[in-house]
Amino acid sequence: MENFSCSMAKDAERSVVTTYWSIGTNLGNREQNLALALRCLVENANIELCGQSAIYETEPVGYTDQDAFLNAVLVLRTSLRPLELLALAQEIEARLGRERKVVWGPRPIDLDLLLYGDLQVRTDGLTVPHPRLHERKFVLVPLAELAEDQIVPGLEKAVKRLLEQCSDRAAVTRYRPVQIRWDWTKMES
Ligand code: AMP
Repeated sequence: MENFSCSMAKDAERSVVTTYWSIGTNLGNREQNLALALRCLVENANIELCGQSAIYETEPVGYTDQDAFLNAVLVLRTSLRPLELLALAQEIEARLGRERKVVWGPRPIDLDLLLYGDLQVRTDGLTVPHPRLHERKFVLVPLAELAEDQIVPGLEKAVKRLLEQCSDRAAVTRYRPVQIRWDWTKMES
């Protein structure tokens, strides 16, 4: 496989932070897309996979004239800073062939940084916690599996409370196999 790892220097002085990511795909070989993106993330020396939710098949939200998504949430421990993570996520999205033709349209892979420890970030290109996290059941259902008591900074509510209050009615159903499999990276696309 091509080496997708990011070329950022490791800095022993940096603190390690727990981050939550939404990963989604609805174009091409969806299972393979998930596996490739996960592999790209953990091949970075500054990132460690600490947990992953089940995979869910989810009805599109926003632009609905497109195929169903596979979605999951990942827990990554990292010494990278928020903007470095955004750059890495965008590099992986680009490598996996994402073209930004339609807002909320079909995509081989979408990586969103949901939470970065307790930090709140608001810059031109990055908002953390993710600004639409509480509006999307395809994010909240897998996130609640991993961190239902986690308080979302800014909203000051636990993930499970946000899920109870979420008005999104799009279908979110468990997918089989349950989790991302490394051997999917070897499948034909
Ligand atoms: P989307 O097409 O919905 O994935 O949105 C991607 C854009 O959202 C990128 O241009 C990012 O700069 C921006 N963005 C803002 N906050 C975040 C975040 N927390 N995670 C990922 N992308 C973000």
